[in-house]
Amino acid sequence: MRLRSIVAPLLKWFAKNARDLPWRRTRDPYAVWVSEIMLQQTQVKTVIPYWERWMKRLPDITALANAREDTVIKLWEGLGYYSRVRNMQKAARLIRDEHGGRFPRDLAGVMALPGVGRYTGGAVCSIAFNQSEPIVDGNVIRVLTRVVGIEESPKAKPVLEKIWAFTDDLVKHAVARQQPRQRNASAFNQAMMELGALVCRPRNPLCGGCPLQGRCTARKENKVETIPALAKRAAATKRRFIGFIINWRGKVFVQRRPSGDVNAGFWEFPNWEVSADADAAHLAKANLPLGQAELLCVINHSVTRYRNRLEMFLLRVSRKPRLAKLHGEWVSLAKIDKFPLTAAHRKVAKRL
Ligand code: SF4
Repeated sequence: MRLRSIVAPLLKWFAKNARDLPWRRTRDPYAVWVSEIMLQQTQVKTVIPYWERWMKRLPDITALANAREDTVIKLWEGLGYYSRVRNMQKAARLIRDEHGGRFPRDLAGVMALPGVGRYTGGAVCSIAFNQSEPIVDGNVIRVLTRVVGIEESPKAKPVLEKIWAFTDDLVKHAVARQQPRQRNASAFNQAMMELGALVCRPRNPLCGGCPLQGRCTARKENKVETIPALAKRAAATKRRFIGFIINWRGKVFVQRRPSGDVNAGFWEFPNWEVSADADAAHLAKANLPLGQAELLCVINHSVTRYRNRLEMFLLRVSRKPRLAKLHGEWVSLAKIDKFPLTAAHRKVAKRL
């Protein structure tokens, strides 16, 4: 099979089947970049309202560069992987200060921005500027390994490099056959990802409706379920946290996570990681000598391979307590919504 023969049917399929996503209605590199960063590790349907809210509030590089950190992370609250948003603001400031506020237009310039790797650089350059830069994500890997019949793990560096090289050749071929007013680099790269998302799905791919079915090695050889070869996931690790909501006259005590920590800049109620058999009353006595705590709720949440259990206790106090071991602020319950809280603590706040 000549791999280049997949370009024409794929472009034709994309022209008819592309989803109407809000970031596809623009060629503004800033808007494309925001969508690409949000879409990392996050589903399209989750990203849409976040992207729309973000673009209304921070419509361009200058707005993001000049925004307060709390505004930016509040807009990101719930999307997770918060280093992404901190890097975005750093990148916006760099563009404002070193590029006169104009988004870089070449791959090297885009990849020099904090938080931008080979994938995002290629995505911005191809989608916004129609430059023939390849992109490889999980969807592209799945489609190409199946079409070509690559049985080795795509996690192996030489295999992944081969996939990048295939994609590079394909996108250049797509651009070479482009007619006036066509934007084939943008269309081809998005078509590969769209096919992976909608048709060539990880399980039960819809091969009957696939434009590449006649060219697909995995389908011909009945290996669709075994390609791509995926490594086993790392075993999950359980972690237990105990936290306290100290409620004094309608105010609660919150702390900001320090820089360098996971979720830095976000706020949360005081909490500690404890062993599986730790006693909440003992912990409260050691750190918050404030009286009897009652269990408010238990939040189970997963972060990468960690399965976290957060037990939240409520302490009502009539006098403002001295919390010598804690550094934070008292916030009125009515205003807690305005604070960017970590995902688990946002759920706790909703229970209050
Ligand atoms: S024929 Fe099936 S396995 Fe092959 S690319 Fe299409 S959807 Fe994927």
